[in-house]
Formats: sequence, structure tokens, C-alpha cells
Amino acid sequence: MKQVIQGLGNEEEEREELKNKVQNETIRSLYHKGEEERATALANKHQLPYVDLSLVPINSDILNSIPKETAQKANIAVVYKVGKKYKIAVTDPENYETKSFLDNLKKEDGLSYSLVVVSRDSLKRAWANYDKVTVTEKFENQSVVLKKEDLTEFETGITNIIDLKKRITEINTTEIFNIIMAGAIKTKSSDIHIEPNKDYTRLRYRVDGVLQDIVNLPQKVHKIIVSRVKMLSKMKLNVSDTPQDGHFNIELENTGINVRSSILPSSFGESIVLRILSDEGTGLKLDELGFNQYYLEILEEQLIKPTGMILTTGPTGSGKTTTLYSFIRRLNQPSVKIITLENPVEYRVEGISQTEVGLSAAGTGTRTGITFADGLKAVVRQDPDIVMVGEIRDPETAEISIQAALTGHMVLSTLHTNDAAGVIPRLLHLKVNPALIAPAINAVIAQRLVRTLCEHCKEEYVPAQETIDKIKSVLKNIPRNKRMEIPTDIKFIYRSSGCSKCNFIGYSGRIGIYEIFTMTTNIEKVILGNTSASEAMQAAREDGMITMQEDGILKAIEGRTSLEEIRRVTGEVFTTS
Ligand SMILES: [Zn+2]
Repeated sequence: MKQVIQGLGNEEEEREELKNKVQNETIRSLYHKGEEERATALANKHQLPYVDLSLVPINSDILNSIPKETAQKANIAVVYKVGKKYKIAVTDPENYETKSFLDNLKKEDGLSYSLVVVSRDSLKRAWANYDKVTVTEKFENQSVVLKKEDLTEFETGITNIIDLKKRITEINTTEIFNIIMAGAIKTKSSDIHIEPNKDYTRLRYRVDGVLQDIVNLPQKVHKIIVSRVKMLSKMKLNVSDTPQDGHFNIELENTGINVRSSILPSSFGESIVLRILSDEGTGLKLDELGFNQYYLEILEEQLIKPTGMILTTGPTGSGKTTTLYSFIRRLNQPSVKIITLENPVEYRVEGISQTEVGLSAAGTGTRTGITFADGLKAVVRQDPDIVMVGEIRDPETAEISIQAALTGHMVLSTLHTNDAAGVIPRLLHLKVNPALIAPAINAVIAQRLVRTLCEHCKEEYVPAQETIDKIKSVLKNIPRNKRMEIPTDIKFIYRSSGCSKCNFIGYSGRIGIYEIFTMTTNIEKVILGNTSASEAMQAAREDGMITMQEDGILKAIEGRTSLEEIRRVTGEVFTTS
């Protein structure tokens, strides 16, 4: 009996506890919503702009124009600065400390400022960036001792960038090169930049396409790194006034990693860029690249067609080649003959024939001397089913590619344009006969890469109503189609604060954002009218094209990336009201 009562009691307690929990959560979310809302209201009251700092990148250099302690005491953060003009984020323009700080600022020579109102939460996010600033470490007293240590041994001690920074400051200068390589591999960096300045050498890694400051090294270390790279890459040790290229291998436990090295003289010494060639990414399947359902289905349809051209477009590093490789992987069968012309061939795919054109083979200094156009003429005579042309950048290559697409081949290639619509005027500029464009081209894909939010530290948050309204107005303009559902309402979006899993960057990995159009009579009509990019864009929109930025915003709503990232890659997300 007692037990039963006790049991009941527990149940009641649990129910009560649950009720409290629900209430607390509601209060918390209301409170949070309140915070951004309160900031908006305060901004309106003072007729100042409101800013959500979760959506804007904070520049550490600009932030540091006011020291952390001063900024925290005054409840401010510098978010923008041009010359002597500051844009300062405040939580309350009437706060006593804030006002006295601003009064003092005004007294300084030639300084002017404007204010924006932010929430307390925003301000704290800005302040957190102070701690992300790299500290210049001192190496002056370290002795030079050469130890033959294996890279794998170094690698075991490093799990993230923070470990790496610590490690670099602890070890002997001669071991630094190995640590730098190990750190880059551990953090999945694609490039290492070693740039000498007047007083120190800056070490940066490119992680997921974005350069990250690692540490500043003393000049003494720089010399050691330069000779190490030259030795490994078989470059001339005594030459320091001309650029040199080379490559070397790093042996790891199970695999080897190829590194392309490039040394360039600069005013304070030789600057080094090391590109780590990993085939990660090139093995990605079509459905792993981040295409939305609508575009995925369009591509599936296009890839079945035996002839015609598919073009990907975007700046260098936008993942165009990765996309084409995923198509090739999909189409690669013993009965299909695939030939590629690339500059350079970075990744080998089994079962296809890859030819390098136009560039010297790494480190040998010899040129193959074949242009894309020459190579393409030869390739077409080889009777392939599918041809991948690395890039169309001259009229001759454009002409032959179009001809190949019209004469029974599938042609995959890339162009340099800002967006998908830009392909039409670009081809016209390359003297392609307008009447041939529509018959030859099946689909045009424009793309950018955005970093994906770290799964371990991303969090939902409720932005101000103003932000929600702006997002909704973007959603309203997205063309509807049967294959994909576009949300009409949102309650929260996502952001990240950084954790040890993502090297405190907040992001880990990348996906593409895309816009795709296929050839329709609507677009064909525009092409024959000797079109501009904006007319082509309008026609593509009428046919249902979702723009790269819209695709990105949809991915931000899903929590795969952030609005800040979409802005970094595609420019201003919302037109300011
Ligand atoms: Zn994280």
C-alpha cells in the first residue's frame, strides 16, 4: 500500500516536474525571442538601425580597434570601420557607461561614429571574437636541434587547431615543419599559406575554403621552412629571386598524400603555398553534393540523354569540377567511352581516359603544349560517348565543344560566369552561333560552396520578427514546383558557437548551393533575341529556376548552413528596407 502511494506520489512529482520544464522552456524561448524583439523596439524608439549579429560576420581586426575590456565596460562592439568612421553596436544608447564612452570617443581627433542597436546576446557573440584572435608567440630562445621524428608520431598529439597552436609554441624550430604538415592534415586543410611579413611570418590554413589564422612565426623559423620545402620539392636551394614549383609526398600509415608546392619571392622573403591533394570530394556521389530534390530530379533526367552539353559555372573553387566528376562517376560503365581534357588532372578515375592539357606536369618544368582546342579535336576523333572539357575559355574550344554536343556526344564542361543566366551572353561573346546554343545545350548549373554548420555545436535561435519577415519575403518569391515543398513560415533559424570538434570555427565540411536551368522554348526565344544576362535570368525564373541564394536560404532554414555563410558567398541576402 505504501509503495503504491509512493508510486503515485512519484508520478505526480514527475508530472509537476514536466509541467515546470515545459513552462521553463516556453519562458526561455519567449525570453529569447523577447531579447531580439526588445532590441528592435529600442532601435525604433531611437530611430537607429537594428542588427542581428548572428547574421553578420565579425571582423576581428575591426573589433580590436577598441580593446576588449573597454568594449565590455561600455557595452559596445565595433562592427564596422572605414578610416576614422566607426559603426558601433550598442544594447542601449542611453546606458550611462555607453554614453560616457561615446562622449570620450567624440573628443578624439577626427573620429566619427554611427550606432546600431543589438541584443545583449548579439553583443556577447561579438565579444567572443576577441578570444579567437591569434596570439603571436615568441620563439626567440629556442635552440635548433634536428630530430628525426616521423610525421605520424607528431600527428597523434594533435586533435584540433588549439592543440596545434600550443604544440607549435612548445617544440623546437626544426620540428615545426612536420607539425605544420600534420596539423594541416588533421584539420583537413586544403592549403597551407606561409607568408613572411616585416617582423614575423604568418601561417594560415585553408579549411573548407576559408583561410584561418593559425600562428605568427619568427623570421628564423621561416628560413628553415623554406629550405625544407625546397629540399623536399627538389627545388633549387640557392635560388630565391624567382618563383619555383614542385611537389612532394607525405607518407602516412596507410596512404600517401601528394603536396604541390609553390614558392614566390616577396618583399620580406619567399612566400610558400602548399596544396594538399586529397581525393576527398571527388568521390562524392550526385546525391551527396547538396542538390535539392527539384534539381536532383532535373539532373537525373538530363544525365540519361545520350547527347548534348551540360555546363557548370562559377568562380575557381566553387566545386564545378567535383560536380562534373560526380556525373562521370554516375555514367562510367564498361560500355561507355569517357575521355577528359583537364588542366591539370588532379584526380584519377579508373576506367576513363584523362589527358592533361596546357600545363607543365608538376615539377618537371616541361610543357605538354596541347591546348584545350587541339586536345578536343583529337579527342573527338577517338569516338568517345562522353567528353569532359575542363574549361571553355576561347572561341575555338567553344566552337568544337558545341559541334561535339551536336554530333552525338555528351559534353561536360565549365565556364567562368557569375550565374547560370550569364552563360548565354558568355557563349555569344565567345562567338558561338546563337542558333546552335539551344540545340547543343541541355542544362546549365551555376554553383558556390557553403560551409555546413558543425553538427556538434549548432543551435536553434529565434531571430527578431523583422528578420523572420525578411526571410518570409524571400520564400514568397521562390518559384513553386511539384517536386519540392517550399516552407512559408519559419519559427527559428540556426547558428553555431564553435566547439573542439570543429576547431572552434563553427563549421565543418561544405555543400553546394545551386541554380539550374534546362533548355526550354522560352529560353531559346531569348537566346535568339541576342539576349542580356538579365533577360536570360528572367526567362529561367519564369521556367521555375530557384536561384543559388534562394537555394542557400532554404538550406539555412534546414539548419545545414547559416545565413551568414550565404551572405559571405552570395552577397547581401536581404535587400535593406
Ligand atoms: Zn562545433
